[in-house]
Amino acid sequence: MADKIRVEEGRLVVPDEVVIPYIEGDGIGVDITPAMIRVVDAAVEKAYGGRRKIVWKEVLAGEKAYRATGEYLPEETLQAFREYIVGIKGPLTTPVGGGIRSLNVTIRQVLDLYSCVRPVKWLGSPSPLKDPSKVNLVVFRENTEDVYAGVEWPSGTEEARRVIRFLHEEMGISPSVVLPSAGVGIKPISPERTKRHVRKALRWAFEHGYNRVTLMHKGNIMKFTEGAFRNWGYEVAKEEEFAGRVITEDELWEKYNGEIPEGKVLLNDRIADNMFQQLLTRTGEYQIIVTPNLNGDYISDEGAALVGGLGMAPGANIGDYIAVFEATHGTAPKYAGQDKVNPSSLILSAAMMLQYMGWKEAATLIEEGIRKTLAQHRGTYDLVRGWKAEGITDAEELRCSEYAQAIIDNM
Ligand code: NAP
Repeated sequence: MADKIRVEEGRLVVPDEVVIPYIEGDGIGVDITPAMIRVVDAAVEKAYGGRRKIVWKEVLAGEKAYRATGEYLPEETLQAFREYIVGIKGPLTTPVGGGIRSLNVTIRQVLDLYSCVRPVKWLGSPSPLKDPSKVNLVVFRENTEDVYAGVEWPSGTEEARRVIRFLHEEMGISPSVVLPSAGVGIKPISPERTKRHVRKALRWAFEHGYNRVTLMHKGNIMKFTEGAFRNWGYEVAKEEEFAGRVITEDELWEKYNGEIPEGKVLLNDRIADNMFQQLLTRTGEYQIIVTPNLNGDYISDEGAALVGGLGMAPGANIGDYIAVFEATHGTAPKYAGQDKVNPSSLILSAAMMLQYMGWKEAATLIEEGIRKTLAQHRGTYDLVRGWKAEGITDAEELRCSEYAQAIIDNM
């Protein structure tokens, strides 16, 4: 009988026949979600020969939910992710500059999925780098604070005017700095939410064999939000759990002659603009990059570009235990329903999900299937476009569903 994942004594207990809720997603969700399910089912079958199985439970969000229930994000869907602990979702549309709030952000905030974890690994796709094999990063993006908290008021409204009046009259801010006509947003960053996020990143480093963790911030300008993020990050390194195991850049040179000792993790920091260029110029020197929300949004897409674009960029939103896996990209509406786009991001997100569940053999099969398919220069339009730009002439363009089948055949 299919059962739920449970948390016991701080660990996930995953039954062999497990129910996993999923959201199909708007736009290209109709193409990539069925492709992902086929590949995952095939990998689980191949790895465990029928001993383990996923029973998929569709839950509604986005346009499909609105058509069925009149709501974009029914409470039942949020409840399913709470109840089943681990789930996966396709992309959901967010209108720019008005209308409903981002459903993706709402899911992360309501379920308190405070760390967005985005591995960036090269599996053989076209890349703008001369040596993309150096890329093996994980972006840890804080998910619940920063300008994404959604505390903002439009220009000209009574709310914006009241906040601005408060700034002028009670906080001594000059009207030449904040004009009365401005739209206003608030950027909250707190010690407790920063610290739990940095803690998760450091634990991830030790558990997954990384030895460099970098705090990315714009603390030279935003001192009490981004600068504080950096300082609180260093405070975590001094906590009992990490003391003696996490070293700073100063210690690296003063005590260890520039070599990170076995069993220790280096914690350093970089200002955001520098981080962007260092990722291109000193690629191999970065492993885990820990960021507040907005920086993480930007740097994730740069990371994706290094390994073949948004079609190759998986991710997960993880809280204390609940985890919702999703691709980095959005709904790419111009390609919706054409069986055309690259499903790798969602398939690799599902592989992360299998890892999280402890079903490592199935996750490895998926990665192998993708590596082999890419090595054959077979892929969706985006990959073929990149290969052609690299002068590779034998690339074969596959539809989304054909590419999923090729991955299965190559497992
Ligand atoms: P997008 O949907 O990520 O698409 C931007 C471009 O990235 C596409 O035009 C395409 O590039 C490429 N791309 C994305 N997914 C791909 C895939 N699977 N395979 C190959 N190429 C892919 O970004 P957007 O157009 O800015 O946003 C569209 C909607 O998605 C918005 O409503 C946005 O709010 C939403 N969104 C949702 C999420 C989420 O659900 N977590 C995340 C981001 C955005 P080419 O045209 O160059 O081929």
